[in-house]
Amino acid sequence: MTQADTSVDFLRGIIADDNRTGKFGGRVVTRFPPEPNGYLHIGHAKSVCLNFGIAEEFGGVCHLRFDDTNPSREEMEYVNSIQEDVRWLGFDWGENLFFASDYFDQLYEYAIKLIESGKAFVCDLSADEVRDYRGSLVEPGKESPYRNRSIEENLSLFRGMRAGDFGEGEHTLRAKIDMAAPNLNLRDPVIYRILKQAHHRTRDEWPIYPMYDFAHGQSDSIEHVTHSVCTLEFEDHRPLYDWFLDELDIYHSQQIEFARLNITHTVLSKRRLIELLNGGYVTAWDDPRMPTISGLRRRGYTPEALRNFCDRISVARRDNTVDIALLEHTLRDDLNQKSPRVMGVLDPLKVVIENYPEDKVEDIISTNNPEDPSMGERNVSFSRVVYIEKDDFREIPPPKFYRLSPGKEVRLKDAYYITCNSVVKDEITGEVVELRCTYDPDTFGGTSADGRKVRGTSHWVSEESAVDAEVRVYDHLFTTEYPDDVEDGGDWKDNINPDSLVVMKNAKLERGLNHAKPGERFQFLRQGYFCVDKDSTPESPVFNRTVPLRDTWARFARSNT
Ligand code: ATP
Ligand code: MG
Repeated sequence: MTQADTSVDFLRGIIADDNRTGKFGGRVVTRFPPEPNGYLHIGHAKSVCLNFGIAEEFGGVCHLRFDDTNPSREEMEYVNSIQEDVRWLGFDWGENLFFASDYFDQLYEYAIKLIESGKAFVCDLSADEVRDYRGSLVEPGKESPYRNRSIEENLSLFRGMRAGDFGEGEHTLRAKIDMAAPNLNLRDPVIYRILKQAHHRTRDEWPIYPMYDFAHGQSDSIEHVTHSVCTLEFEDHRPLYDWFLDELDIYHSQQIEFARLNITHTVLSKRRLIELLNGGYVTAWDDPRMPTISGLRRRGYTPEALRNFCDRISVARRDNTVDIALLEHTLRDDLNQKSPRVMGVLDPLKVVIENYPEDKVEDIISTNNPEDPSMGERNVSFSRVVYIEKDDFREIPPPKFYRLSPGKEVRLKDAYYITCNSVVKDEITGEVVELRCTYDPDTFGGTSADGRKVRGTSHWVSEESAVDAEVRVYDHLFTTEYPDDVEDGGDWKDNINPDSLVVMKNAKLERGLNHAKPGERFQFLRQGYFCVDKDSTPESPVFNRTVPLRDTWARFARSNT
């Protein structure tokens, strides 16, 4: 057990205090309680890191509990993906895998207990009527005409609901609290409803299902959770959470709220993510543009980067939005150490080196990571025809353009100096399609024997061993920082970035990269960090750009001096 640093945030402070006063006898049990109605996103990662992290730091345990009380939206696919994502983030629930649906019998007994003590009643109002009777923040609610049914009648009706004797909407079970309570959650909330739908685990066993508020706290109690950490929107539900546990007189977990994670240029709500999916704006839950854990994984994020990010943003009590640049910065920090450098030309321009022998092929030695010599070196091959980035050539160079143009000399990284003598143009479009160059044999390795300097260095790939690949370049999914901020009549989907994916179909990569395995990560010099997509094969390699380099040029220049 490592000593928890209680100065880090208010939550760890509360837990340390509880340990000091012996509130839970020094035990720390947290839980991560996803509803299996979608894939996890980076907001959930914050909650995962928090709950599992706290358990680890305080020598406790963290349960993974599926809050599966709504059969209409839930599926096994989500149950499986959630487990995979939590594990990938690096956390282990051990024996402690639970499902709220495993407690359906117990929850039913709790409901009976409330009826028997006169604290719950069967109501025949429709959903609309319940809403009308509820009142508002400024007006008290109205009591249901069914509120004063006898305990016997309530028991018999509720057992009938359980037996499937009634249709959907005919009855609900409601807590009997206070229709004038300032907190609307306490105005006789519905705790059971009739739903004739098969559940992904209990199948057709139950025609009634507990509401979230009734299931959640009691599940915490059954598991003897000490600290039930949830997001701020549940703050107003805490009095109800406490009311159930007090009335039932069962183990009392402590609910504590923290601010949910929001990130600029991103939407983080399963409802929104499902809309993106159904609207065809993305291709799958793990589309690399999605802020889902599976999307980020496919995009090339590391679990370490996500965990470091969650550490860095810490937990607060007030809602705020984190700049996506911080996430990307944390990612680069991690990828920089782990990614071997390679050369890949995304938008190739052919270069013929006229004074280089036709069939000669040379090995050029290149370091795999200038910042980490232990990552070693590799050979790349050089020959008469190479590709450089279209962007690295201008027929008419603007001021301060130090890359290639007619009559100019540049360095091909680790290889030779070359000079451009002429260009070949497409007869119809006039576009430059090929450069005719010469090389200086006395500049092998990229340094000149006579001390002559050039200012520009280009990455390149030799045609003779080039790997043809598709490279998918991603940008933020939304053009605006706060996609949900829209003018009247506007729609958050209007803020979707039409260029969030650009596919480079003719990329040329250095030799061997077609054998990289899905998930393998690289830094393409000057271009950013990339990883092999899950759809990639040696015959048709596909790479995803994880994140661009922040300052491509400065970084590259530094590694060359
Ligand atoms: P969404 O709003 O995306 O649908 P949710 O809260 O309904 O999310 P749940 O499956 O109920 O999704 O969430 C599981 C846990 O993750 C909850 O404890 C919830 O508070 C937490 N969580 C969800 N979104 C965030 C977020 N953006 N930041 C931090 N924690 C989050
Ligand atoms: Mg939810």
